[in-house]
Amino acid sequence: MKKIQLLVLALIIITTLSAQAQKAVDVKMKTFVDNLVKKMTLDEKIGQLNLLTPGGGIATGAVVSKGVEGKIKNGQVGGLFGVIGQDKIKQAQELAVTQSRLKIPLLFGSDVIHGYKTTFPIPLALSCSWDMGMIERSARIAATEATADGLNWAFSPMVDIARDPRWGRIAEGSGEDPYLGARVAKAMVTGYQNGDLSKNNTLMACVKHFALYGAADGGRDYNTVDMSRVKMYNDYLPPYKAAVDAGVASVMTSFNTIDNIPATGNKWLLTDLLRKQWGFNGLVVSDYTSVNEMIEHGMGDLQTVSALALNAGLDMDMVGEGFLTTLKKSLQEGKTTQKNIDDACRRVLEAKYKLGLFEDPYRYCNKDRATREVLSPEKRTAAREFAAHSFVLLKNDQQTLPLKKTGTIAVIGPLAHDKSNMLGTWAVSGNADLSIPVLEGIKNIGGSNVTIKYAKGANISDDTSFAKKINVFGTRIDIDKRTPQEMIDEAVGIANQSDVIVAVIGEASEMTGESASRSWLNISSGQQNLVRELKKTGKPLVLVIMAGRPLTLNLESENATSILYVWHAGHEAGNAIADVLFGNYNPSGKLTASFPRNVGQVPIYYNHLNTGRPNPGDKFEKFRSNYLDVENSPLFPFGYGLSYTTFSYGDIKLSSNTMNTTGNIKATITVTNSGGYDGEEVVQLYTRDMVGSIARPVKELKGFQKIMLKKGESKEVSFSLRQTDLKFYNSNLAFTAEPGDFKLFIGSNSRDVKEVNFKLIK
Ligand code: BGC
Repeated sequence: MKKIQLLVLALIIITTLSAQAQKAVDVKMKTFVDNLVKKMTLDEKIGQLNLLTPGGGIATGAVVSKGVEGKIKNGQVGGLFGVIGQDKIKQAQELAVTQSRLKIPLLFGSDVIHGYKTTFPIPLALSCSWDMGMIERSARIAATEATADGLNWAFSPMVDIARDPRWGRIAEGSGEDPYLGARVAKAMVTGYQNGDLSKNNTLMACVKHFALYGAADGGRDYNTVDMSRVKMYNDYLPPYKAAVDAGVASVMTSFNTIDNIPATGNKWLLTDLLRKQWGFNGLVVSDYTSVNEMIEHGMGDLQTVSALALNAGLDMDMVGEGFLTTLKKSLQEGKTTQKNIDDACRRVLEAKYKLGLFEDPYRYCNKDRATREVLSPEKRTAAREFAAHSFVLLKNDQQTLPLKKTGTIAVIGPLAHDKSNMLGTWAVSGNADLSIPVLEGIKNIGGSNVTIKYAKGANISDDTSFAKKINVFGTRIDIDKRTPQEMIDEAVGIANQSDVIVAVIGEASEMTGESASRSWLNISSGQQNLVRELKKTGKPLVLVIMAGRPLTLNLESENATSILYVWHAGHEAGNAIADVLFGNYNPSGKLTASFPRNVGQVPIYYNHLNTGRPNPGDKFEKFRSNYLDVENSPLFPFGYGLSYTTFSYGDIKLSSNTMNTTGNIKATITVTNSGGYDGEEVVQLYTRDMVGSIARPVKELKGFQKIMLKKGESKEVSFSLRQTDLKFYNSNLAFTAEPGDFKLFIGSNSRDVKEVNFKLIK
């Protein structure tokens, strides 16, 4: 007892001391920034609110900033993005700190989204690992590499909940679930910032896109969002809030409207919610020209929308220069206030202060460090590990996988020998020449007893006008000179001479990401023809599917023996895929977004409301909530993913059938590895609130544990569920748990679960 008291006392002392230390740092920063602001002219203050890109990165809008050098010298720039390489960054920084009047250093940002120069799997893939430690490590490694090359600001994590795979940017987030999304948001922020922005190997994270960007009507990028507050608070806002709670230092606004007001000019969003309710005191930056885009939204001319954005709580204007060119006039005309300009300027300066840029503006520009860190072998090793852990095994009949390291393998498909698509969307700094394609990986891992035959078999798409849209950043869809039939004939020819077929098919990287919405979610007809023809050979058919979103896979799952969904897995994709195909690593990924049977089911997500006429099971019943032509269930549900082994679940034991408002319940289940391989399983816990003051979802993820079990091994897995885990936002937006009946489920995915009941009592 005494020991515990001493520990608690020690904890209190440590917390008080660190709070005091933080206060002292804050006071020092305030004094520094106060003094600096006093010296600044109005133009210089407005200058700090301007984030420019001189080009060189990916320009996602019409404008690339002009005359950047002159603007830096004139104190008209607060930061740059799209400048890659510590030497170039150093040059630009030198301009700011030697040539501008007040010598204020610049921020240098970039879309470090899934790795920096060493490219990791796309974020949606990483989320399928359900491994928060690994996800945090991926951000930490990216921060180490990016800061060594001059950067101090990452436009990541993207935490937009996405329940519509038509939306190409689903690739950049963590799928459909707010609880999982919040956990990933925290892991990413911690990985980038590591609790101390003043270190030269931590990056300022930027949570985006605030807010609700993933709920665009029809899955069409940049489209309108319309949502009730209850849905917002319960389903869409938690990941952004988790990032704020984890100390994220910056926030990026989204392109969409919320309550018909664009996020970038939405005062309720940026001031009332973000700053006042959530207590965020960092920097808010617009998305690429999203201030200017408010003109098209119908909010007024550039001067009006710029003032609107500043007054709403925006601090920094990305690329559009609306702040730079109109705020002075708005101040003179009384359309904004000196305080608003000062506050925004202070927040930009504070970010620079926290990053230590005033102490040493070149702290991230060290050639030796860059040589040591950028593309170092350990980062490649990590990339390979991250990739293998994010693959999801969707089907594996007759235990076709893992493959034997003997015999002949036909490696077929347009993505089998391709180096650029596997990097995925937003691989801004990833060099495709450094990629390991699948064919090479299979050769590396298969060893000398395996004979490998290769044929392309199909194009990613046969449609030249479609290919043109996709090939904007270089060739991603390479249409062969041969006819589709000639390619299929060659593929079938080698398949017939082989023991097993591995067909690597799917989407090109630029079919996902920004401005890459699709209205059909199938794999192209050319590739589907290839699958049909390969099936006819009668050989075991393993599909390795690369994609940036859930696709509709009816044909593929009917025809293939096995399906390994590998997303766009980054530089080491080929080795990692081969590691899994040959069983060096037993797949453990679980889907974080439901896979629809067809596009008509979209939006589709496991944590939906029940409706007044639910349809039990998938059989059509008249006057129930269902479709005439497709089941309600997804083809593959949230949380789903197979292993080479099997896991069996015992019954759930509860420490009590009641929970009072201060207590908790312990739920225990025995999980057994009942198959033939050692393997990892993600044990998932869901609840359902049976009666509420508002309708409640049929299931909600409340916890998960990724465990390793040797073959034959059993483990007791325990979850502690507290009353606060049962809280939700009611119609008054009060965050409360309501007493009553609950169900608790534990299982291997959101569909296959064991269940028990308990009661929450007052
Ligand atoms: C995207 C952001 C990105 C920014 C800068 C925009 O078009 O929406 O996610 O951070 O460009 O590249």
